[in-house]
Amino acid sequence: MRNLNKTAEILFDYTQSIPIIDTHEHIPACESDYTSSPISFGELFIPYIINDLYSSGMNLDIDGNMRAVPFTSINDDWDAFEPYWNNVKHGSYARALRIALKKYYDADDLTRDNYKDILRKINENNNKDIFKRVMQDDCNIVKSINCRSEVSHYENDFVLSNISTPSLICNSKAGINMMLEYCGVDQINNIDELIRLGNIWLEKKTAEGAVEFKGRANPVPKPDKEKAEAELQRILNGEILTECESQYLTAYVFEDNIKKAAKLDRPIAVHTGVWHDFRNLDISDTLNIIERNPETRFDIYHIGIPRTRIAINIIKNFPNAYMNLCWAHIVAPEMLIQTMKEAMDMVPLNKIFAFGADYVRVIEKVYGHLYIAKENVSIILGDRVDKGLMDIDTAKETALKWFYKNPVDFYRIDSELSEQFSL
Ligand SMILES: [Zn+2]
Repeated sequence: MRNLNKTAEILFDYTQSIPIIDTHEHIPACESDYTSSPISFGELFIPYIINDLYSSGMNLDIDGNMRAVPFTSINDDWDAFEPYWNNVKHGSYARALRIALKKYYDADDLTRDNYKDILRKINENNNKDIFKRVMQDDCNIVKSINCRSEVSHYENDFVLSNISTPSLICNSKAGINMMLEYCGVDQINNIDELIRLGNIWLEKKTAEGAVEFKGRANPVPKPDKEKAEAELQRILNGEILTECESQYLTAYVFEDNIKKAAKLDRPIAVHTGVWHDFRNLDISDTLNIIERNPETRFDIYHIGIPRTRIAINIIKNFPNAYMNLCWAHIVAPEMLIQTMKEAMDMVPLNKIFAFGADYVRVIEKVYGHLYIAKENVSIILGDRVDKGLMDIDTAKETALKWFYKNPVDFYRIDSELSEQFSL
């Protein structure tokens, strides 16, 4: 544990007892998909730590936008790996892994002497009920919202689904074909037919159990149908377009998806910031779509890192914009703490969701990430108490709201569950 002052410690202890809604993951669509293949050494560092390794100079096969990383690019050659691990292991991405290794495998660090043993134990642990043991029993997570293009199916509906909007899928032939197949439609020939196909996708996914849909902040001024049609025709003719070359198509489809989501009473999640050329994922670019679509609730991810003050101001100004701290706890913990101390002056307490881990496999890391999130929230609320601006009971109640009650309300998580943990 990092050193906490007395007030933060009281709050941290309190957070051990409360139920958690995990608002964002990318885990496989069912448990058998997770457990059916062994976990490799490289997967320990994916996602995220691998980006720090790359940044520190390790020669890795990482694509241009730094999001897609083949884990085979790290093998268990300890001599080659160790210098880069030493460069990154004190960072916050690695800290989440190290907290998990301590909890589950009693290791303070990954070393030449223990890495093979740890990997063997991780694989021994990789079997039935791992989600129940790690996420439900150890983390006290009662629902986890999983982001994929297919609806997830876990025992007792533990995992709810956040499904990609057609705007994230329609910029390739393969994506369009996937939508056609799922929707039972033979073909599309123009943008109007693509929009109709997108509507069917959103309706069918909602009926199948989607609680939310996901998009991304992009720097496109206004939806332009003609330009969108031109980009779509290139894709239908077999061309492969970059994100930039298909931006009008994405923007036009996204605008319709946003309106449809409101009719289905589903929020739209928007990734903001962090990756590579973060100017193309700028939180400022969400402002126009939030303002144009007051009927739609927006779930703004990652507080726009590094433009966190803009995030605060957007969420303050628009009643349909909500602040989701998912992933930000390990991207930049000190930036998050500072930002949220400022947000306490400005953002209503009902608009904040404290946690989502944003992981894929090696699910033990969710425990490490949640641990850091609880420390951060305890420091933020403790600071308010220490300044004499909030009493300790209200700080506890606020922690419960951020980790549990606010996401229950926002995602319309069933009322039986919320009664079970009534405030
Ligand atoms: Zn994510």
